[in-house]
Amino acid sequence: MTTSRPPRSAAVPWSRVVLHVDMDAFYASVEQRDRPDLQGKPVVVGGTGRRGVVSTASYEARKFGVKSAMSTMLAQRLCPHAIFVRPRMSVYVEVSKQIMAVLGRFSPSIEPLSVDEAFVDATGTEDLFGPPVELAWRIQRAIREETALSCAVGAAANKYVAKVASDLKKPGGIVVVAPGEERAFLAPLPIERLWGVGPRTAERLRADGFDLIADIAASDPGELQRRYGALGTHISALARGQDDRPIDDDHQRKSLGAERTLEHDITGVAAVRSQLVPLIDEVAAGLRKAELRASGVRLKLKYADFRRTSREILLPEPVQDTASLTAALEHLLPRADLSRPMRLVGLAATHLVPASAPRQASLFDQPQTAKTRGPGPGRRRHPHQARAQRHHPR
Ligand SMILES: [Mg+2]
Repeated sequence: MTTSRPPRSAAVPWSRVVLHVDMDAFYASVEQRDRPDLQGKPVVVGGTGRRGVVSTASYEARKFGVKSAMSTMLAQRLCPHAIFVRPRMSVYVEVSKQIMAVLGRFSPSIEPLSVDEAFVDATGTEDLFGPPVELAWRIQRAIREETALSCAVGAAANKYVAKVASDLKKPGGIVVVAPGEERAFLAPLPIERLWGVGPRTAERLRADGFDLIADIAASDPGELQRRYGALGTHISALARGQDDRPIDDDHQRKSLGAERTLEHDITGVAAVRSQLVPLIDEVAAGLRKAELRASGVRLKLKYADFRRTSREILLPEPVQDTASLTAALEHLLPRADLSRPMRLVGLAATHLVPASAPRQASLFDQPQTAKTRGPGPGRRRHPHQARAQRHHPR
């Protein structure tokens, strides 16, 4: 089950050692670290205004029920004495780089999931760093020394179990699930802990009598597949603690974006463009800070009815500057339905590559291209492939 110490002689050898490292209340902890007046206080990092949303709440604020993704207004009602702080993304990106660099000292194979969490494939590092529990402890200590921040670590023989484990003793915990113990470890947890089971699926599973992961694990896989198709096969394997996916260490990060939930719904290209202009600067600044270039740009929209859509374009050369991102956006705007009321607009740099990677001058570097709208010579020069979003990293 959840052990803070691996058994002296594990019955089953570790086929892989996968760690999931998750910073504790990351944005809020960075703010508390940098501002002594916030230490020990309920801090809520997020947007303000009528449609502001909580990014991260400190543990002091969580005691009052404040959570990520909750509206700022509800957070204010739950915790009236909370201190609301605007996010400082560029600082978080810097700290994130420090954290990923620390992880890189323990293994060359790391897969960041966001600014504040990552998988580490530590298979074969036992001679250097000891068994998983000791490795986890070393990582926690190194991150604390380097950044003065705390994290939780889960260790298991696969990604899914490691990620579930890291979440069970937050903040600051280490949970190791030894090989062979996965199924027993997962059994008492609710079905929402299965990847791919959102609120709607959970409702359906509950109606069919499945409450705990144990209920799924005890069911015949063929029957689950007949009832739920591919999802049935997927959750049947997860519930038994099986997950073969490798650590995806191809790229440090898949996308870097900025989005804005609007005070009032907007329609039309002019309104969308004016909302996106400051976000473009933010994304460009984030790319420069992270020393990355984008080979793709994605426009994200959420309509008043909460339906989401996105349009993505691939660029002939990776870019980092505001003018190139603006030009790419101008190619995306005509491809989206902007006539319906929208409540959120966003922009993401995708297909990221290190800025140091060799590159040729971008077509977007030519200023006249950046201003081109509608069919024109600048436009015809772009060998872009636009397409609807089909990347769902996870
Ligand atoms: Mg976290």
